[in-house]
Amino acid sequence: MTKVKVLICDPIHEDGVKMLREAGLQVDLRPGIAGDELIGIVGGYDAIVVRSRTKVTREVLAAAGRLKAVARAGVGLDNIDVEEAKKRGIHVINSPEAPSNAVAELVIGLMFSLARRIPEADASMKRGEWIKRRLTGFELRGRTLGVIGFGRIGYLVAKKAKALGMGVITYDVIIDKLMNYVKEVGAEAVPLDELLASSDFITVHVPLLPQTRHMIGRREIGMMKRGAYLINAARGAIVDEEALREALTSGRLAGAALDVYEEEPPRDTSLTGLANVVSTPHIGAATVEAQRANSTIVAEKLIGLLARG
Ligand code: NAD
Repeated sequence: MTKVKVLICDPIHEDGVKMLREAGLQVDLRPGIAGDELIGIVGGYDAIVVRSRTKVTREVLAAAGRLKAVARAGVGLDNIDVEEAKKRGIHVINSPEAPSNAVAELVIGLMFSLARRIPEADASMKRGEWIKRRLTGFELRGRTLGVIGFGRIGYLVAKKAKALGMGVITYDVIIDKLMNYVKEVGAEAVPLDELLASSDFITVHVPLLPQTRHMIGRREIGMMKRGAYLINAARGAIVDEEALREALTSGRLAGAALDVYEEEPPRDTSLTGLANVVSTPHIGAATVEAQRANSTIVAEKLIGLLARG
């Protein structure tokens, strides 16, 4: 019987590679392979594993031969011609669940950073200052967090926030289908306008779609509590950055924490440069655990798929 063969085209965490080998698959490591070289050998494999570097184009898929699956260790599928794969009956697998906990933990960290002014305190210490009296913060316990988008990440943020003693309200377009999770967490589902008006912190966890572009715009920011905080670790363009900058400058909002930007890296630093903004360079998924999960989750899915034939 011919062995089921998997070609790894980009570096992935070794745990996933080990899982594939232990499942009896022949795994060939060719990180860096591209273009004609990939087209020349892809037909001899049952599956290929890529990250974002390898372009799985129509030409690559045309040479696919016995290929049954393209696995993307990670979330985005922009580097894969998904339509063409579908036409050819080739499965496309990815691991959107891998970074969820990493992002949720970052959001909690950003909330603490805003409430206790940790980045500001650290910067002052590095300058050799002792400005203890100017750094009075507030506690998260008892505050209300509004979670917009109650999917994988929104659910985990809500769960962690509840464990900190926060009240959690949430809004999602498919909230009726998610009510079991909302109840499990002890959150409350509310209309968007009510969430905007009642939250001390608002965190967005929706995908960037035409309907969610600038979903948090001037109108929505205007509805938020005076002195509230906004967190965006989803996608930059979900928030109207210009409207946010104005609200932060006028004092309408007390602060914001951002991991994502309309332009990355942002050339215009007028938002990230504000004293009441805590910003990070899109590090939501940047944990060793999330990287490992990218590789082990796609390995598990591939093993399941190839074992089913
Ligand atoms: P998910 O698909 O599990 O959840 C998204 C939720 O948003 C769904 O429940 C969906 O019904 C809801 N939704 C969609 N449109 C909506 C709308 N108009 N109004 C209200 N709710 C709406 O996604 P996820 O895995 O939780 O990821 C959420 C976001 O986090 C995505 O934007 C993703 O790109 C981003 N993300 C960021 C990082 C990072 O590094 N900062 C890492 C991973 C994911």
